[in-house]
Amino acid sequence: MVMGDIATSTDLLVIGAGPGGYVAAIRGAQLGLDTTLVEKDAYGGVCLNRGCIPSKAFIHGADLAHEAGTAEELGIHADPAVDMSRMQAWKSEVVDQLTSGVEKLCKANGVSLLEGTAAFEDEHTVRIAHGGEGQGMETVEFEHAVIATGSRPIQIPGFDYADEPVLSSAALLEMESVPDRLVVVGAGYIGMELSTMLAKLGTDVTVVEMLDDVLPGYEDDIKRIVRSRAENLGVEFHFGEGATGWEQAPEGVVVTTETEDGEQSEYSGDAVLVAVGRQPVTDTLEIDEIGLETDENGFLETDDRARTDVENVFAVGDVAGEPMLAHKASAEGIVAAEVAAGEPAALDHQAIPAAVFTDPEIATVGMTSDEAEEAGFEPAVGEMPLRASGRALTMNETDGFVRIVADADSGIVLGGQLVAPEASELVAEVALAVEMSATLEDLGGTVHTHPTLAEAVMEAAENAQDQAIHTLNR
Ligand code: FAD
Repeated sequence: MVMGDIATSTDLLVIGAGPGGYVAAIRGAQLGLDTTLVEKDAYGGVCLNRGCIPSKAFIHGADLAHEAGTAEELGIHADPAVDMSRMQAWKSEVVDQLTSGVEKLCKANGVSLLEGTAAFEDEHTVRIAHGGEGQGMETVEFEHAVIATGSRPIQIPGFDYADEPVLSSAALLEMESVPDRLVVVGAGYIGMELSTMLAKLGTDVTVVEMLDDVLPGYEDDIKRIVRSRAENLGVEFHFGEGATGWEQAPEGVVVTTETEDGEQSEYSGDAVLVAVGRQPVTDTLEIDEIGLETDENGFLETDDRARTDVENVFAVGDVAGEPMLAHKASAEGIVAAEVAAGEPAALDHQAIPAAVFTDPEIATVGMTSDEAEEAGFEPAVGEMPLRASGRALTMNETDGFVRIVADADSGIVLGGQLVAPEASELVAEVALAVEMSATLEDLGGTVHTHPTLAEAVMEAAENAQDQAIHTLNR
């Protein structure tokens, strides 16, 4: 400890107030632990300030504008004008409401809040540097620590986020006007969500992607639907091309790409959004002081109880590995706090859903049919195409399907893949089924409201048992 430091002690020290950290802190305090939460930037982390919430606010705005402007078939003739600075202000109001809510909730639960950057001194002490110069240092001693420092966008050679026309997702979500043309590097989930949103707002979007398709890791029939909808919105894709650099042009930028064979191309835009993935943040922490190491991808390895190799130190959320999703961060945060409080908690990673807010949305949970087979199951698969759903027809949204995967032997539901409007909501039912080992009979036998998209979950479960009424059985 440096002379002149203020020293405090706490049972549970949480570093980072994103959805992993603030949830861990609140649960820790609820369980009677004296809990301290340190944040160097903004309560709510990436999710509330620069990720999930701002992007979904804009996606909602873009959907409204696009739907109103393209509903002539339904007899609606409108040409909505988008005032982006107003939409930006509205988004900021939503963000402010949620981030101040996080701060209030922490305080109301008795969590002590500290602003500053935490770095380890040893296995029971962190040093916290407050704000700017002359703001002072503080030393906090702890029984248990939870690392929840999250992730930041990966920067690729030739594209420095410090250069104005090179945008990270965070910078794009601060836009005050809709760009006329945008080059997007990367067709992963963030690139696809933002490209779709901007295309709906009227931007000419060009996506360059090194791989040969959108959304790596998703099944081909899912990618096909989402890619072709994006193409219908005017998004232009160039696959098998890596972005190598950019140059300022009289109007915006020109981005250069290269194929594996060395063939070069150029694409113009007002700016270039780089969305090639995210990397864990550990460089703020001095983890070597406690003998903690990252794996080859920079993540902190943990067990199913969120424990690292250092006995009293946990890691949760993006810094602890894929899937880098807010609800996975929160679920791990709860487990870490409960284990720190001596409870027998553990996380079942099999039942963590994932959603992509494209058009239509994608949501998955558990195993695909191939994964079930690889795991030694004989999969029973049932599907309900949306074109057979009364609700989908009334919404004029018939691209997509609900697929349920189960173990043929026991009927136990192993997973589901959904491509549908509101798939991010619909997947909750399938996640519950996976979590509680429900069977096809349970899903199919649950009476669903008519007419709803959720009926497709029931119907897909019936289809897997050759009992579907509204689709032909396999
Ligand atoms: P973060 O939210 O990254 O928070 C970490 C916090 O730690 C930060 O506030 C940081 O300032 C702080 N910190 C770092 N180092 C220190 C230190 N040494 N001392 C003190 N504080 C420190 N996920 C979804 O589930 N659904 C979505 O729809 C979704 N959309 C997204 C859209 C975009 C554009 C992006 C970028 C991400 C999106 N995500 C989404 C991912 C989601 O934001 C992350 O998975 C989530 O924020 C991870 O939470 P976390 O608590 O691990 O870390």
